[in-house]
Amino acid sequence: MMAQEVKASHTQQLKYAIAIHGGAGSSPRDYSKEVNLARRNALDSALRTGVRIVANGGSALDAVEAVVRRLEDDPHFNAGRGAVVNAVGGHELDACIMDGRTKGCGAVAGVRTVKNPIGLARLVMMRTNHVLLAGIGADKFAEEMGVELVDQEYFYTKKQHDAWQKAKKRSESQPASLKDSKGTVGCVVLDTHGNLAAATSTGGLTNKRFGRIGDVPIVGAGTYADNRSCAVSCTGIGEIFIRHVIAYDVSARMLYKGASLGESIDEVFASSLKPNEGGLIAVSRSGKIEMRFNTADMARAAADSSGRFDVFWGESSDEDK
Ligand code: ASP
Repeated sequence: MMAQEVKASHTQQLKYAIAIHGGAGSSPRDYSKEVNLARRNALDSALRTGVRIVANGGSALDAVEAVVRRLEDDPHFNAGRGAVVNAVGGHELDACIMDGRTKGCGAVAGVRTVKNPIGLARLVMMRTNHVLLAGIGADKFAEEMGVELVDQEYFYTKKQHDAWQKAKKRSESQPASLKDSKGTVGCVVLDTHGNLAAATSTGGLTNKRFGRIGDVPIVGAGTYADNRSCAVSCTGIGEIFIRHVIAYDVSARMLYKGASLGESIDEVFASSLKPNEGGLIAVSRSGKIEMRFNTADMARAAADSSGRFDVFWGESSDEDK
């Protein structure tokens, strides 16, 4: 146990803590009043779902899955229903879940028929000897597991279709940006048993090449959890998060240097991320929550056993609702 963390756990160990993100890169200015309200309500309801589970002694793993499922079912986020459109006009989804207690993890990449990729990621973790299944093999596994399958039209939303049209008009040679790809979702939880978990789900970047896989399903890049340090879920330009193994780097700095969660994230942003590349949420083993981004905004929410309940979407937070 690291010095900083020992100190934190003696001073204010929280029984549970939960944080959610609904993607970096977006700002309320990009949406209508109704859509902003819908996104805010979805974050609020997802947070309540997570709190209900952990406050009743449920596991961090169950909580992160349930929260991400809730947001995957919502068309206002780039995950599950509402996923962005790729370069060939389709939807390919990535998701990952990790258990900080066992380091068990499961991920799926490029799935095209699965209603809730996060549920399938959990099944990869529980029912196979593997960590990551991709493409046709992952869709086939979904069929075998009897999870809910949908056709590609299920993922269609006008907003993402319009964003794709806009992105296509821009030069092909432009590097991938978050401009049109808003709303990846993620959740990190510390439960009352002292266990950490992280989950992330996305449709990826708008107009991405067919077959492109982002950071989300790459363990350590977009998603990571270790009971000795923290749980992390990222959002941003996936290629950058993969190169710098961002989620793992946050955890590693805590373990190797004895940095606090906040210090570790400061260092990671300073050393590896340029403005407008993304953000992350994280919770430490003592229940300290951090939600950071270097984009215009990041939809996010947090709650803990002290009674904190904050939803941040554009306006000031809704405290203790
Ligand atoms: N990180 C995701 C990806 O690159 C996109 C996002 O977070 O918005 O696939």
